[in-house]
Amino acid sequence: YLQINGVHKTYQEDLPVLKNFSLGIEKGQIISLIGESGSGKSTLLRIIAGLENRTQGEVFLDGIRIQNPKEKLVPGIDEIQLVYQEYHLYPNSTVEENISRPLLQYDKIYKEKRVADLLKLLGLEPFKDKLPRQLSGGQQQKVAIGRALSLEPQVLLLDEPFSSLDTIQRREIIEELKTMFETLGITVLFVTHDLDDALQMTENLVIIQKGKLIQKGHPEHIFSKPKNLYAAKLFSHLN
Ligand code: ATP
Ligand code: MG
Repeated sequence: YLQINGVHKTYQEDLPVLKNFSLGIEKGQIISLIGESGSGKSTLLRIIAGLENRTQGEVFLDGIRIQNPKEKLVPGIDEIQLVYQEYHLYPNSTVEENISRPLLQYDKIYKEKRVADLLKLLGLEPFKDKLPRQLSGGQQQKVAIGRALSLEPQVLLLDEPFSSLDTIQRREIIEELKTMFETLGITVLFVTHDLDDALQMTENLVIIQKGKLIQKGHPEHIFSKPKNLYAAKLFSHLN
């Protein structure tokens, strides 16, 4: 169970970027977080992953408090993995090597099995010996997701991971991954500014605006009772 409790974030002297943000996510739940550019989505994900200091508030995974980077005495927990918009793959390593990279210290047999399973799940088997530049954007993003999944995290955070793909590619990859996430039973927080993408991933929506959680729930609920103008506008084209 992932719990975000009253998270507040201010960069230096600036205006707050996150304001008293609280959200609970059940184990295995998939949630789409929608908000416009600058609303604080990436900041929130980095805070959940323990990569950014919070000004106030706490994040817990199964009751274990996620440390701020500045207080990290022990390495961060591998249970929460973040995938960025840019793929950040190792350019001179093959698909297989990229996915197995986080497993360097693991037992060889475990490692080979885990990587083979992920290549299969992601449909990347035919490409396992290729380099990132020999793949399409969607395939590269799948490699990045495979690498994030190699440590068997409980939570996967996806920060607009498909925004460089065209609409048809996005539809395909979201559909594919959604099925895989459900099979794995992994908790996913999917960040996007596109309502259609959000809805294709899941009906569990959370709307963020200017650092505040505006509304959460299913599309019909938000459509019929939008909490503010932004929520209403977001849904205005659904009839
Ligand atoms: P986008 O959809 O464009 O990715 P976002 O919702 O992810 O936007 P954030 O990247 O979290 O938004 O940024 C929220 C606000 O915080 C913005 O006003 C941004 O300028 C500011 N911000 C983000 N990172 C920093 C930083 N390292 N230092 C100072 N301000 C920052
Ligand atoms: Mg962002």
